[in-house]
Amino acid sequence: MSHVSHLRCVECGREYRPTEVRYTCPACGITGILDVLYDYDAAKKELNHMSLAANKERSHWRYLPLLPLTGRQFIQNLQVGWTPVYKANRVEAELGLKHLYIKDDGRNPTASFKDRASSLSVSKALESGAKAIACASTGNAASSCAGFAAAAGLPCYIFVPKFAPEGKIAQLLMFGAKVMVVDGDYEATFRLSQQAIEHWGWYNRNAAINPIPVEGKKTCGLEIAEQFQGNPPDYVFMSVGDGCSIAGTYKGLKEMHLLGLSQHVPKMIGVQAAGAQPLKLAWERNQPWRPTGADTFADSIAVGVPRNPTKALNAIRESGGRFVAVSDEEIASAMRLLPRLSGVFAEPAAAAAFAGLIQCVNSGIVRSTDRCLVVVTGNGLKDSASAIRVAGAPKLIPPDLDAVRAVVE
Ligand SMILES: *Cc1c(COP(=O)(O)O)cnc(C)c1O
Repeated sequence: MSHVSHLRCVECGREYRPTEVRYTCPACGITGILDVLYDYDAAKKELNHMSLAANKERSHWRYLPLLPLTGRQFIQNLQVGWTPVYKANRVEAELGLKHLYIKDDGRNPTASFKDRASSLSVSKALESGAKAIACASTGNAASSCAGFAAAAGLPCYIFVPKFAPEGKIAQLLMFGAKVMVVDGDYEATFRLSQQAIEHWGWYNRNAAINPIPVEGKKTCGLEIAEQFQGNPPDYVFMSVGDGCSIAGTYKGLKEMHLLGLSQHVPKMIGVQAAGAQPLKLAWERNQPWRPTGADTFADSIAVGVPRNPTKALNAIRESGGRFVAVSDEEIASAMRLLPRLSGVFAEPAAAAAFAGLIQCVNSGIVRSTDRCLVVVTGNGLKDSASAIRVAGAPKLIPPDLDAVRAVVE
């Protein structure tokens, strides 16, 4: 049974019954993104210390009582969520920190955080009888939507901008999605997807329109609270493009606190690329956000017109966190450092969160005794071209020992 009680518009606060609207607030239009709210007292009966301790499910479906599905019959059996948290000892030593953790969401079925949202969206599409699912994405939402649609046998239409890295495009093709590579930026791609979705009536997986994907993303926050036995870190670092991921994670952390399963709610640190930082600027100036360029090689956060600004800004403000912006050089340097010191390989946008941590350590925002968690939102193999570029391509040697000696010695 779903414990969804109502949907509430993040702009005007109007409330709707769960069956009344599907996507955005009818009064506010496209910017009226809805929040899914639950009967938390009812959810508590199924989701508590005892039930969690007894729950053997090692995926994010262990939180089903706090997800907007009526049952299990439309869930795909790909293992999503419950990603590992590592204590990063060698990174701690390098940065002078005592408590640094990495949550590796690159371990999801299609190798990114987006699987949390896509798994739930595909299930919801099936539950609502949709004949196809569609989304616009800088890459990861698309490849994950395609993967879960493939598992479900649901036709999938994907719109990606032409800068999407090859690894992500390869995933789309292999999962058998119908792929539209749009000759334009993410903004143009998003608008085209909206038109097509309306025209053909596909299920809309865009997390900035549909409140369901953000519910999937919140499982990251539910997991963090549980994996830290109800005492989550002081700071959670995540990179921010549209803002859905950090907003979702924050909602999960808050709900665990609400259910009495977490002692406090961490401060959320949103990391944007310096070349695409509309939300960081809005937060800093305490003004409404304005569109910016989208100039960064971290494709997953190359977003100049964020689609979920209010939810993201609320997460930062309410939690007492902050936004920071990191340059492409800082991202490249973080991309090199993290795998070398932890064995976790992050794609550029995921490494950006780590770059944000480094910046906060250097500027004194984070102190050595603070407990910090960096969410690695996507695996580095997603964009191997960027990795090789920032690492420097290996040297070709002739097949003789002297050449090896020159390298070794
Ligand atoms: C989508 C994505 C983000 C940012 O999420 P938003 O909801 O757009 O803010 C960060 N990192 C990776 C790897 C992503 O795929």
